[in-house]
Amino acid sequence: MPVGGRGAEPPEFLVKAYLVEDADAFAKVSDVRDALGHLQAFGLGPIGELAVGQVDDADWLEAWKASVTPIRVGAFLVRPTWSDAREDGAITLALDPGMAFGTGLHPTTQQCLEALSQLRLDGVRVLDVGTGSGILAIAAAKRGAREVVAVDTDPLAVSAATENAKGNEVRVEVRAGSAADVDSAFDVVLANLVGSVLEQMAPHLRARLRISGSLVAAGITTEAEPDVVAAFSAQGLGVVDREVRADWVRLILTA
Ligand code: SAH
Repeated sequence: MPVGGRGAEPPEFLVKAYLVEDADAFAKVSDVRDALGHLQAFGLGPIGELAVGQVDDADWLEAWKASVTPIRVGAFLVRPTWSDAREDGAITLALDPGMAFGTGLHPTTQQCLEALSQLRLDGVRVLDVGTGSGILAIAAAKRGAREVVAVDTDPLAVSAATENAKGNEVRVEVRAGSAADVDSAFDVVLANLVGSVLEQMAPHLRARLRISGSLVAAGITTEAEPDVVAAFSAQGLGVVDREVRADWVRLILTA
């Protein structure tokens, strides 16, 4: 049925897919052609011709690389490892986009990088809980933190963060585990997780924070926010800063 009402042209869509050219490729193309034929039989037409072409590996990779552009976030310029982009006055973070971002960082990561642009970090100790690619830990180290400890429960994140810290020539102590597996107190604790995890982890996050320290908590939806704030408040942590973007809340809390 045409979409868009009487007289309106149905919208046109182009779907592109890439297949590895191996022994199964021919059969896969043929399956797709059959499946498209079935869709037409259901009245989901008109469906155009399936066009098949070969793409050189090198061309494909170059095209993808060219599509990943550096992004400025707060004090930082986040760029892919192969780019040599730099910007006056910006601190460069070089990351492999496969691990850190697609063509743009997640809004919650951006919110944390902005907080890290503003917080006083010179000479302080920072803990990054759920470090992922290590992006926030690396950012903290580059802004002058004296010591940065990063933890993640995912072994892939632990190796990615270790590699990325090395590539950015900063010292970050990356460990497998979570907030409960670290035992000292930090001036700044970063936790870009999800609301339910933050809630459960609130006592451990509190235990890792120095009395006048700052907890940056992100990954909280506006819906989850009241429960997360209540869990932190039960630990004696109060909100001193709040920022909302695309339904994501980033809080800064202190004891
Ligand atoms: N800090 C990065 C990555 C955030 S994604 C950034 O801001 O972009 C969240 C990360 O937290 C994932 O790598 C996930 O493996 C990790 N994680 C999830 N639950 C965790 C937990 N309970 N303790 C430690 N890390 C956790």
